[in-house]
Amino acid sequence: MKKTIIVSLTFFAALMSFGQQAPQRSASAGRPSGTQEYPARMTPQMTEIMDPEVKVIQPGEQTGAAPSDAIVLFDGTAGIINREWEDARGNPTRWILQEGALVCVKGSGVIRTRRKFTDFQLHIEWRAPAEIEGEGQGRGNSGVFLQGLYEVQILDSYNNRTYRNGQAGSVYKQYAPLVNACRKPGEWQSYDIIYTAPRFGNDSASYFTPPRVTVLHNGVLIQNNVSLRGPTLYIGMPEYSIKKHGPEPLVLQDHGNPVAFRNIWIREL
Ligand code: MG
Repeated sequence: MKKTIIVSLTFFAALMSFGQQAPQRSASAGRPSGTQEYPARMTPQMTEIMDPEVKVIQPGEQTGAAPSDAIVLFDGTAGIINREWEDARGNPTRWILQEGALVCVKGSGVIRTRRKFTDFQLHIEWRAPAEIEGEGQGRGNSGVFLQGLYEVQILDSYNNRTYRNGQAGSVYKQYAPLVNACRKPGEWQSYDIIYTAPRFGNDSASYFTPPRVTVLHNGVLIQNNVSLRGPTLYIGMPEYSIKKHGPEPLVLQDHGNPVAFRNIWIREL
């Protein structure tokens, strides 16, 4: 047994030695003796990146539960609402807390985070009203505006036809969702959104790289790293309205329907 190990190690060492010598001979072939070997011989360490260490975190136990490194934006309690959110003028929102959910009040306007974000992973749960009112865009409409500019549509799209690039999970008027993964009205649904903010050139307001969005709706991929053409517009083509911007807040839309929200958290990337 011992002999076998020694023989194996000797063979392995010989193999390694051959492997190390082979490129050395090749790299210096045809060069005058005494000149420095070029290019430098690769070592294993050259392609092993040690620092900074990848952060160790504890994932949440349940699907949708915030992991340890998330910023919790809404946890169902009253205190967090004014701590993390405000209306468009910077005042306390008039949206209301109902049974642990933050509910849009018609006419109160959007709410936005006090914090500003660039690249992030967002988890947000929403619920369209159980009692069906209206149709098309008038039914359970809200929206998540990434950096306040790019809307991932919230809509009750359960048995409710509207234009495909304006239904639930669309990047509004730019990309229809890959599938309709809506639950029934009155049931909680989730979006997991991965967002890469645009980068701008030094002088120009045009994108150097456009914003990119991936969305999972109730755990199903519905937007696969799509590139946006510009901020969301109701009328007109988005590419004509690009403005240079930096970190911006997350905005939730008041579209006149009492859409409810819970369990909102974000991880900056
Ligand atoms: Mg909307």
